[in-house]
Amino acid sequence: MRKILIIEDEEIIRMALVDDFKHEGYLVDYAINGKEGFEKGSDASVDLIILDIMLPEMNGFEVCKKLRISGVNTPIIMLTAKGQEIDRVVGLELGADDYVTKPFSPRELQARVRAILRRTEKIIGDVDKSIFEFKHLKVDFLQFECYKNGKMINLTKHEFDLLKYLIKNRGRVIKRDELLDEVWGDDVIVSSRTIDTHMANLRRKIEKDASNPKIIKSIRGVGYKISSK
Ligand code: CA
Repeated sequence: MRKILIIEDEEIIRMALVDDFKHEGYLVDYAINGKEGFEKGSDASVDLIILDIMLPEMNGFEVCKKLRISGVNTPIIMLTAKGQEIDRVVGLELGADDYVTKPFSPRELQARVRAILRRTEKIIGDVDKSIFEFKHLKVDFLQFECYKNGKMINLTKHEFDLLKYLIKNRGRVIKRDELLDEVWGDDVIVSSRTIDTHMANLRRKIEKDASNPKIIKSIRGVGYKISSK
């Protein structure tokens, strides 16, 4: 499960962000001032930091600079105020990875976070070249092959891509919207019902009992998740 640290002193914004990220299936921690933010941000368990600039104790620029100086290379997204072009420039110079201008849309922020995590994930471990084994299932991403109890099964391209995206993001709940964006892309118009249909077909092929799925779990009203146990 990926862990997000939110450093923001304004309670309303902070709690909204905490809720949003929890809802997206991340582990979330927060800090209410720069000093606490620096301390928590130094922890290696954090995968990404959302950092506000105007903070008590130590401002966001200082937090960012101090983290980088002390060797922390966890991705940082800065929250900058509208019209503060200078904030953005300074932030990026100090080692932030991206910035989002307040007021921002939660969906945009989520997309930025996903893009950055995807980038860092590729460096850590390349799913594209690995073999995933879980319960009775084995997926060879390099060969595009999938086995159930040792027997090869045929998946369509979309089924394979769906499975791959879920495995890449295992431990996190994936919304239908995200699957639409990431697996189908912008060039085709599909409904969330299309996803459910593909998911049903995929489950019929990979699960031992599709009515009681053990590999791909449904999270009611939210989306899907690869089981971790
Ligand atoms: Ca603030």
